[in-house]
Amino acid sequence: MAQRDSGMNRPITRRDFVGGVAVAISGSLAWRWSEAQAPVAPNKLPQTQAVPYPPVRTGMRGSHVGSYEVAHAMRDGARWGSPEETGEDYDLIVVGGGLSGLASAWYFREAMPDARILILDNHDDFGGHAKRNEFWDGDRMLLSHGGTENIQDLRRYNQAGRRLIKALGIDVGRYSEFHDETVYGSHGLTRGVFFGKETFGVDQLFGAEGQPSWREFLARTPLSDAAQEELTRLYESSVDYLEGLNPEEKVEFLQKTSYEKYLLETAGISPEAVSYLWRSSTWAIGLDAVSAWVATGESWPGTAGLGVDDYIETGAVATEESLFCQFPDGNATIARLLTRSLVPGVAPGNTLDDVVAARFDYSALDSGDSPMRIRLDSTAVNVRHRGDPKSADEVEVTYVRGDQAYRVRSRRCILACYNASIPYICDEIPAAQKKALSFAVKAPLIYTNVLIRNWTAFARLKIRGVRCPGSYFEYIDLTEPLNLGGYRHSSAPDEPVVLRLFRAPLDPRMRGQSAPDQWRAARAELLTTTFEDFEQRIRDQLGRILSAGGFDPARDIEAITVNRWPHGYAYGHDPETNQVAWMLDELPPERSPWIAARKPFGRIAIANSDAVADAMTEGAFRAAHMAVEALVKT
Ligand SMILES: Cc1cc2nc3c(=O)[nH]c(=O)nc-3n(C[C@H](O)[C@H](O)[C@H](O)COP(=O)(O)OP(=O)(O)OC[C@H]3O[C@@H](n4cnc5c(N)ncnc54)[C@H](O)[C@@H]3O)c2cc1C
Repeated sequence: MAQRDSGMNRPITRRDFVGGVAVAISGSLAWRWSEAQAPVAPNKLPQTQAVPYPPVRTGMRGSHVGSYEVAHAMRDGARWGSPEETGEDYDLIVVGGGLSGLASAWYFREAMPDARILILDNHDDFGGHAKRNEFWDGDRMLLSHGGTENIQDLRRYNQAGRRLIKALGIDVGRYSEFHDETVYGSHGLTRGVFFGKETFGVDQLFGAEGQPSWREFLARTPLSDAAQEELTRLYESSVDYLEGLNPEEKVEFLQKTSYEKYLLETAGISPEAVSYLWRSSTWAIGLDAVSAWVATGESWPGTAGLGVDDYIETGAVATEESLFCQFPDGNATIARLLTRSLVPGVAPGNTLDDVVAARFDYSALDSGDSPMRIRLDSTAVNVRHRGDPKSADEVEVTYVRGDQAYRVRSRRCILACYNASIPYICDEIPAAQKKALSFAVKAPLIYTNVLIRNWTAFARLKIRGVRCPGSYFEYIDLTEPLNLGGYRHSSAPDEPVVLRLFRAPLDPRMRGQSAPDQWRAARAELLTTTFEDFEQRIRDQLGRILSAGGFDPARDIEAITVNRWPHGYAYGHDPETNQVAWMLDELPPERSPWIAARKPFGRIAIANSDAVADAMTEGAFRAAHMAVEALVKT
């Protein structure tokens, strides 16, 4: 589609810059304490004092401009001499205001209620990956998650994690109460597949993937007869492709074999059929680097007849009867609940229901004589003990804000940033531990949210989500219909809605290489792709998929937020079996470098999801709790 047709020249809110910086609120902040839980549009707030409100910023978010430059300069050798002494003294400084950092502060305060705590984060918003994307269509608020989406299964949270979730007022049992299944169901919307011309030679959309049967569905697609036959066999039969091996041998084989190789060489599927199955979003890595064992745990096609179910129980992600929960802005709700609990006066209310629409006062995060402060736009560049780490009473932390370096002191420090960055920040750490820290390469990925005028095209095409194997964005779907507190999701096709697009920026030319190598290359691509490049891709792909339903990208796209996460998922392992569950990469001999990496050092402890090699929120909490337990004894 030509750029002009797709609306590249049309103003959208990311260029207007309205919401981000100059939202004005009243000096008395009286509005914050009103009983009303309904969202108040930014342009309806009293106009006396300008306070930034980052959740409404659109354009390039996640790792936004201004958040990472200091850290990269530090990595490349820059040093900041003569920092200004702030004179502040804390009981705990936390580097990193993601879920692990916020939870660290929460657990620490639980152990030491009068503690003075400072959290430093390099972004303009708190929450790390748990990022809120807030759109406005006139007076109507529309929410989505810029990163962390849901509580996938509360059963995977340990006791301390569940205690925190409960204390924040979250009852996952309420999910069915605020999840309105009828919104899309009443219009007969299904999950479909888009065949893009780059991979399949034609642009074609099909609804209801796999319905009424795989054979009938595949017969409608442009796949060759042979590929249809192979896929039908894979989906509809329970062949044991490892017949002759005992269960232990099967498990070992599956753990050592990529799912792609298993499909091609063991199940005898053609590359064309594999192209149809291709996906990467779940772990931000392709089928070439996901083990067939993981695929078996996930019940992916071709694994049903292997007879190893009894061996899966501890290792696989529970998909049935899980205690699942999702909020309209994803786990940003958890970050907001944590922040409201930590920082007095930052937002009204005290329940899960009233936090969703609450407007936070970012000026209260780091103000007055509050014992709990969150300092944004602040990158820690140096953390060291004042004296010999074995006997020092204090730690000093240097951070850079704007062009200026500042120094603060604390009795303890938790590094809740990410492992690979820690050797650059904390030179004192022993060399062997630095090596173990450097092992953690996070998986990059992109979560994009697009505000569209209405979803009539989706209603006409009878789709709510589309898998797009081989396309730039691998999956698109309408946000979940969640109504919580004063917040109301779109309920009819003629209402505006937020659309989500997922991409793992993997280079197909690197297939077969190790996951960390693919991720390093992907990170470089991510940081050099401009917003305009993304916008063009978004308009092109949405136009090609939805135009048959009347969608016009030039007319229907109201706003775009691209959340890029160069350091996304932590390298994953299964906490119960202590095995790398997701990827096939070779581990160093010790097999569990994250255990050596997280060792507390003097008055410094290490949290963040890398510390437990578990990308999920429960991992971030577990790491936080462990770090606090280690430190409160000092
Ligand atoms: C796109 C995406 C989707 C996800 N979806 C889910 C999901 O649905 N469910 C789930 O359970 N988990 C999900 N996860 C995983 C989840 O995000 C993590 O478990 C958790 O949020 C990680 O928290 P963290 O605090 O360890 O790291 P982060 O969220 O990365 O927070 C660390 C913070 O420290 C900051 N920082 C780093 N260095 C410095 C420095 N030198 N100075 C100051 N600050 C610094 C970082 O910029 C960041 O803000 C998702 C992750 C991503 C990326």
